[in-house]
Amino acid sequence: MPTESTFLLAFLFIIAAAAGWLFANYSSYANKDDNKPISVNSDYIKGLNLVLNRQNDEALELFTKLAKFDDETLETHFALGHLFRRRGEVDRAIKVHQNLLARPNLNSQQRQQVLFSLAQDYYGAGLFGRAENIFNKLTNESEVNKSALEQLVEIYEKERDWEKAINAHRKLEVITGKKSPQIAHYYCELAELSRLAGDLDASRKYLKSSVRSASGVYRGNLIRASIAQEEESFAQAIRLYEKSIDFDKRLLVEVLPNLLLCYKATSREVEFSAYIKGLVNQDQDNKYYLAYSSIINRLTLEKSLFQYVEDFCINHNLISELIDINHFSKMHEEQRIEKIGKISNILRKIALDSSRYCCSVCGYSAKKLIWNCPSCKQWETVMPNQIIQFEKLFTKNN
Ligand SMILES: [Zn+2]
Repeated sequence: MPTESTFLLAFLFIIAAAAGWLFANYSSYANKDDNKPISVNSDYIKGLNLVLNRQNDEALELFTKLAKFDDETLETHFALGHLFRRRGEVDRAIKVHQNLLARPNLNSQQRQQVLFSLAQDYYGAGLFGRAENIFNKLTNESEVNKSALEQLVEIYEKERDWEKAINAHRKLEVITGKKSPQIAHYYCELAELSRLAGDLDASRKYLKSSVRSASGVYRGNLIRASIAQEEESFAQAIRLYEKSIDFDKRLLVEVLPNLLLCYKATSREVEFSAYIKGLVNQDQDNKYYLAYSSIINRLTLEKSLFQYVEDFCINHNLISELIDINHFSKMHEEQRIEKIGKISNILRKIALDSSRYCCSVCGYSAKKLIWNCPSCKQWETVMPNQIIQFEKLFTKNN
């Protein structure tokens, strides 16, 4: 179904075409006979009426015919191609632009624009290889090189071809004179892939290159910590995990289990406990991050963490009613632990079913940590939002 914007675009396109036609007619008449009335091509008027009556398909047919017979209507063809692509009729858009390309009288700038539009059509049709070939050629053309590189980046990000994405962004840096923070993430992606493939040296090499912006450092730290943990360099892993938590306390939910494992591997549970207490002394709000992370990561029964989950349950207006606080306070320690353990399991199940991560730019929500928002394409904008959606309890399936 055509959208409102399609109608608007069609409308503007017709106005522009009609205005162009009027101007051309006016100019030619002006030299011949000042008194001759200005006439408008009746087909344009007919097309305008069709669009206003929302008969878009018929309007498009009419304008395709008009464009065919009028050599001066390059802009009309562009608008038509754009309209077809916007409507998802990529085959027709490709035809329009291929016809344009066949014109022998295009100047260099027009040719670049037609090629760019054709590549956009291919991209829209999912023919990434063809689109990439044309965009690549256009990176050497001054008129469209920046836009072509931006389109290439989009293709490479989609294909997860990080090496090519890095090269495209480096060229963009030269054109814009600005640093591209995305490059750090591409290196982190490569580092993560190498780490998962067991090539830790390659991973470290990529991580070195990622240290070029704050974003690369923070994400790189998490990968470095994983490598250190894998290599049993626990002290280094602890240092890096704690650095990540310093960067953003919400990351506790991501790193707490591994941090605890590293402390335990070196029999430093007492130090872990001191570290946790230090976090709370630093900021009382950290108690909530600790409780949330403990619930999500099944760490509720850990000695140094239990207290925070218990405090959270007792102080929560809804959960405190569920556990019957008066009765709860009279229970033996073992019974209390059992009760909190059960409540934690329920909370964890609800939380895992919730959209626990949210993009700060577009509001996209996800169930796990992702570095590139699939909606707005921004990097490092999706973060844990520590949410447990109770309304999920009342969906049909429950
Ligand atoms: Zn987003």
